[in-house]
Amino acid sequence: MGDRYALIGNPVAHSKSPAIHAAFARDTGQDIHYGLIEAPLDAFAAAVERFRAAGGKGLNVTLPFKHEAFRLCARLSDRARAAQAVNTLRFADSYGDNTDGVGLVRDLADNLGVPLQGRSVLLLGAGGAAQGVLGALLEAGVARLAIANRTPAKAQALAARHPGVSGGGYTELAGQAFDVVVNATSAGLANDSPPLPPGVLHRKAVAYDMVYGRDTPFLAQAREAGARACDGLGMLVEQAAESFFVWRGVRPATRALLERLRGA
Ligand code: NAP
Repeated sequence: MGDRYALIGNPVAHSKSPAIHAAFARDTGQDIHYGLIEAPLDAFAAAVERFRAAGGKGLNVTLPFKHEAFRLCARLSDRARAAQAVNTLRFADSYGDNTDGVGLVRDLADNLGVPLQGRSVLLLGAGGAAQGVLGALLEAGVARLAIANRTPAKAQALAARHPGVSGGGYTELAGQAFDVVVNATSAGLANDSPPLPPGVLHRKAVAYDMVYGRDTPFLAQAREAGARACDGLGMLVEQAAESFFVWRGVRPATRALLERLRGA
């Protein structure tokens, strides 16, 4: 068996990451095996150490452990430090990275043809995913960035770490419109949608839900408003490609794989 990697989270059973990394390995001629680890909610660090001690080379980290992973690393990328959340662990040098932001921006810009330079962007949610993408959205040159969250204090705290970004609750969005609305909440997993006032989503807007593999109420609401509705499958593939690069130093192509996954 080749070098071993895995996705660790809770739950992980339905993840597409093993299939994505198997395709990257095939396409780039890298000899790796990528598995799934469902860690007990109170024993993340022990599960990471078990995998490392057994010869594992690195991990992707998902909900709800990205903050704990951040605290485990001796070295951090700038973007992981800014996000205070890690989704990629490389054991050789105890390094942590966060590839969610670059994954989102590459999907929007390269796959969907939605450049962010000079656009107004609304980020929904203030959890690990929102923290992970905020820096990349700012670096992409957005003209205006607002964060809204069910618990407004969390959006305000996240915004306060980034000059020029505003944060608050959903009702404060009344009367405002944005070019791009990114749903970084997990509401879609519960068949729910953030309560957006009318007009926030409109005919010229792009609505992006990080959730993938299902038609969420947020995407349905976006289509009803005449907006362009996009799911998070492309972000999943692009963040995986960046993690693969962190581990192997080789950047896999993503377009054909994404088309295959969409067709499947
Ligand atoms: P998290 O840290 O648990 O945060 C969840 C966020 O969703 C919080 O802001 C929470 O608000 C909000 N929320 C939950 N239920 C809600 C509801 N019914 N209505 C309104 N807001 C609600 O989770 P996360 O790590 O940020 O992940 C968020 C989502 O992004 C997940 O569905 C995850 O699968 C997805 N994701 C996708 C990718 C990808 O590659 N496509 C990558 C990363 C994450 P409160 O603060 O008020 O609780």
